[in-house]
Amino acid sequence: MTYFWFRRDLRLHDNAALYYALKNAKDVKCIFIFDQNILEKLPSTDARVTFLHDTISSLKSELIEQGSDLEVYHGRPEEIWNEILKSDGVKALYCNRDYEPYALSRDKAVEELCQTNNIDFKSYKDHVIFEKDEVTKDDGLPYTVFSPYKRKWLARLEKRKEKDLSYYFKAYPNEKYFENFSRVDEPSKMLDHDNLGFERSDLRIPSDEVKQKIIREYDKKRNFPAVEGTSRLGIHFRFGTISIRDKARKAQKLNDTFLSELIWRDFYSQILYHFPHVADKEFRAKYEGIPWRFDEEEWTRWKEGRTGYPMVDAGMRELNNTGYMHNRVRMVVASFLTKHMLHDWRLGEAYFAEKLLDFDLASNNGGWQWASGSGTDAAPYFRIFNPTSQMTKFDPQREYIKKWIPEFGTDQYPEPMLDHKEARERCLATYKMHLN
Ligand SMILES: Cc1cc2nc3c(=O)[nH]c(=O)nc-3n(C[C@H](O)[C@H](O)[C@H](O)COP(=O)(O)OP(=O)(O)OC[C@H]3O[C@@H](n4cnc5c(N)ncnc54)[C@H](O)[C@@H]3O)c2cc1C
Repeated sequence: MTYFWFRRDLRLHDNAALYYALKNAKDVKCIFIFDQNILEKLPSTDARVTFLHDTISSLKSELIEQGSDLEVYHGRPEEIWNEILKSDGVKALYCNRDYEPYALSRDKAVEELCQTNNIDFKSYKDHVIFEKDEVTKDDGLPYTVFSPYKRKWLARLEKRKEKDLSYYFKAYPNEKYFENFSRVDEPSKMLDHDNLGFERSDLRIPSDEVKQKIIREYDKKRNFPAVEGTSRLGIHFRFGTISIRDKARKAQKLNDTFLSELIWRDFYSQILYHFPHVADKEFRAKYEGIPWRFDEEEWTRWKEGRTGYPMVDAGMRELNNTGYMHNRVRMVVASFLTKHMLHDWRLGEAYFAEKLLDFDLASNNGGWQWASGSGTDAAPYFRIFNPTSQMTKFDPQREYIKKWIPEFGTDQYPEPMLDHKEARERCLATYKMHLN
């Protein structure tokens, strides 16, 4: 018996570890675990759990159609594997690698269980194009600045190109070996959503398909939040319901700027892998200990989109209502919280982590540390976004603002809760004093 464990790779097609499992074994049993260690930290109405449950149900149906099954568990992975791996006849466990600190320690524990039971543990790269040390500086150290990282990333691609046009973007032909899924007469019952302890959410999940036109015109339209100019694929990249190789292949043909965004995703993934301290500390040590303020009322107004700065408020309302926020606006609200309000970036990071459908530890942390100035390749602290000129530039007709703030322009809309100029100066003085 060979096991395949689904995690952030929830698809049967073009899935690296699943491909190798099916190619190398004749009786591949698929498993998914609703991980209690993760679920217990989420609010009971979490839309991502609904998405996950729906996705797992569909995967299970696809596997049943193949004459096989998906065994679905709910609990702590180490305990569950400890039981499964004790059974007779288990030869190997296959999975795709995950680079987050929790996932690394979980997988290490499961790998050790495999070793104890004399079972092969085989992991593959699937979630990113380049992982770990595949793109490093000439001296082997990880890059901490995006532009040279991107150059090397693209160069690695080119190098392989001579030999094999699409080596790093290749699709794994899993379907060739579908007959190697284990045969099951009576599939197991799917775990009920209610049994997970969560209420179903009716938040709309963006499609996993994107119009070619959006990718083609990405560089021209991606900065305008009122326009349908970005892919909205974030949640699908997060859970692996689409293949990064497939999208990178298309991006390479259609739009360099879109490809560049996918390279940012790899970049932040390798930053988290090489510098796991970023998960709770500043990437750059000298930024640790900035004397952050905390004001309950301001914090609530920021979360609820009532700061009196329309670009900030529209963004926060978009997030609260849809689980999405446009990238340009993410930068504006993050800068506003950390610079204007001088609140700890970790508060904003945690709020995004709770609300974003596309929440991804590496990218979210990268985005927040960038905004606060403490991250890799961060904007210097003295460059502070002006939320009003950002609005004028990127929402010139106020379409985005009016969509999310119906009372915009009336007495109902609050006055700015702080003065831009004063807040800017307070921020500059605080950062300057701390850094000198
Ligand atoms: C403060 C802040 C927090 C963020 N939090 C997250 C997060 O939790 N999860 C997340 O996936 N992205 C995050 N981003 C990056 C970016 O805002 C989102 O990836 C993007 O807005 C998602 O929308 P989209 O799918 O339409 O992206 P598109 O613009 O269509 O881009 C395609 C894909 O490229 C990747 N991507 C794009 N921009 C970035 C970027 N700057 N860094 C890393 N990957 C990128 C994403 O996977 C995205 O889905 C954050 C940015 C900031 C400034």
